[in-house]
Amino acid sequence: MTSPFDIIVVGGGNAALCAAIEAAEAGARVLILEAAPKPYRGGNSRHTRNFRCMHDGPLSVLIDSYGEDEYFEDLMRVTKGNTDEVLARMVIRSSQECLPWMAAHGVRFQPSLSGTLSLGRTNAFFLGGGKALVNAYYRTAQAMGVEVRYEAEVVHVGMTEGVFTHVDLKNGTQIEGRALVIASGGFQADLDWLAEAWGPAALNFLIRGTPYNRGVVLRDMLDQGAGSVGDPTQCHAVAIDGRAPKFDGGIVTRLDCVPFSVVVNKEGQRFYDEGEDVWPKRYAIWGRLVAAQPDQVAYSIIDARSRDLFMPSVFPPIEADTLDALRIRLGLPEETLHTIETFNAACGAGKFSPQELDGLATKGIMPAKTNWARPLTQPPYYAYELRPGVTFTYLGLQVDETARVRANGVPLANVWAAGEIMAGSILGEGYLAGFGMTIGTVFGRIAGREAADHVS
Ligand SMILES: Cc1cc2nc3c(=O)[nH]c(=O)nc-3n(C[C@H](O)[C@H](O)[C@H](O)COP(=O)(O)OP(=O)(O)OC[C@H]3O[C@@H](n4cnc5c(N)ncnc54)[C@H](O)[C@@H]3O)c2cc1C
Repeated sequence: MTSPFDIIVVGGGNAALCAAIEAAEAGARVLILEAAPKPYRGGNSRHTRNFRCMHDGPLSVLIDSYGEDEYFEDLMRVTKGNTDEVLARMVIRSSQECLPWMAAHGVRFQPSLSGTLSLGRTNAFFLGGGKALVNAYYRTAQAMGVEVRYEAEVVHVGMTEGVFTHVDLKNGTQIEGRALVIASGGFQADLDWLAEAWGPAALNFLIRGTPYNRGVVLRDMLDQGAGSVGDPTQCHAVAIDGRAPKFDGGIVTRLDCVPFSVVVNKEGQRFYDEGEDVWPKRYAIWGRLVAAQPDQVAYSIIDARSRDLFMPSVFPPIEADTLDALRIRLGLPEETLHTIETFNAACGAGKFSPQELDGLATKGIMPAKTNWARPLTQPPYYAYELRPGVTFTYLGLQVDETARVRANGVPLANVWAAGEIMAGSILGEGYLAGFGMTIGTVFGRIAGREAADHVS
């Protein structure tokens, strides 16, 4: 029996939807297979707030300009050069035409929020967040005739001599197609796989996004010889509130208090410069830093003067009138008091300026705190427990500029990939805020067009 579908899209997040819409617009008959039930559709994309966009002049809600070279330099800084320049520059250049395309397909934008992450020039914020974006794309896609099946987890990609033929679903169904777009995210929700890379410590990690990104199709493709990119230990991980749920806590569990705090591990020791740089440039390293501490936990301690300097998180801080009472509430050893006294004594005089690098640094302690170093002296005192929150993993499928997947050294005839599952091609390490959605939008659109071209 011939399949009613030309193109099968695996996944139901941003990259999948961009691919499906482009393909449907080109006249292809498209089926989206989303592992999650409908209320949880949209993967990690539904948690997002913005995407990073190049622009030569003011564009929609974006002010001034943000050119290709500045964008690329920002990427080089965070990845320490561990990127593919051709793919990266292509994504950056294409981002400019993505914004009007997104708007034309239902996405609404709003100016950036003020706060610790000041991104008004570089990142366009989605009105209503990622959930509204995902809902708008579903509406657009379905109005174009794209069929969507939920609770449709793909467990195997059928190929004959490098040619995709069908997918097998967990429920036993087999669906044929003439082209495949894989947009099923990273493998971060498979804690056992994370533990293979990180060791047993990974079992203590929290996963900020969807529990459905378990890398099932990634593993299946790698087993079938697909080329891989990225190191399995590389991922985007931030410090989140230790009280966050194991999965899907989303953006509200992120903690932005670190630059204004003293951070100690469970032994009461400081371990890194809390004020190394402005928070948008440092927040993505703190997940790994906390992951390297005993029991993968740390505590960010502030006094009353810093309480309102950062975006509040969903959980209120733990509070006490004295530092000793606070450390007892946190279950920390007496050593913590000594660490804070030593820190306080190392703070010098100077102007504290929370919105910029103020150079207010400690003297004579290791590690130093190089900005915003104010002694903790003003009760009440507050603390947040920090845990590593994994956003997404970087190990993925190797693709070329046309989003085509390679296997056993040659491009596959009719298989493309987009989004988190191939982002490691560009993000060798580090992260640039808003770049995940940019990669997914650019590559999703390319994959959809290429797949449609193939079946036309
Ligand atoms: C809390 C949070 C905040 C973030 N904020 C931002 C931000 O503001 N800006 C930004 O650029 N990035 C942000 N990111 C990263 C961003 O979410 C991702 O880069 C982006 O959403 C990836 O899109 P995607 O389509 O590749 O994956 P996803 O949106 O995760 O979609 C993958 C889809 O595949 C489905 N799936 C998985 N396995 C299977 C299977 N076997 N069969 C069928 N379906 C399957 C999942 O259910 C899911 O729908 C954030 C992430 C998190 C967790």
